Amino acid sequence: MWRLIAKTLVKGPFTIAAPPPSGDGLAELASRVDSAARARLGRSLVIREVDAGSCNGCELEIHALNNPVYDLERFGIRFAASPRHADVLMVTGPVTKNMAEALKRTYDATPNPKWVVAIGDCAFDGGLFQGGYAVVGGVKEVVPVDLHIRGCPPTPTQMLTGLLALLETVERPQP
Ligand code: SF4
Repeated sequence: MWRLIAKTLVKGPFTIAAPPPSGDGLAELASRVDSAARARLGRSLVIREVDAGSCNGCELEIHALNNPVYDLERFGIRFAASPRHADVLMVTGPVTKNMAEALKRTYDATPNPKWVVAIGDCAFDGGLFQGGYAVVGGVKEVVPVDLHIRGCPPTPTQMLTGLLALLETVERPQP
């Protein structure tokens, strides 16, 4: 135990330094956040993750956001089980025909103000599965999207920069 404490004191925490917010993300979000949202949310965001048809590669990277290296909760961002407790819907995968209605209902169940963050190339336009018989397309085909974080899958750092851009936009007065 003492050895572990001494090691932690010498080496410091495992957590990586926070990346800067995404410049592209800030630009994409700039016009979509109003002052009511800032007043309500303060410095915290609650996320409901929705897998709309992903291969689960994106989910593996999303799980990594909660590990001791990225430690998402230190920024006041956490995941919730219910859309009724959420500010952000984080959606992965191409939207399959079987999931389109469920995604729409989850969106409708999320209270305003809310944001939709589409994670991965599939969520952008269907990615690898574009044009497939079981696929509707990107998330924007079903619900409005506020922020796209591209990649196949995006890294936890890319997702973190996007979420920090969202948090910063929510916090920051609009120009
Ligand atoms: S973007 Fe890549 S990792 Fe994510 S769901 Fe699509 S194929 Fe899988």
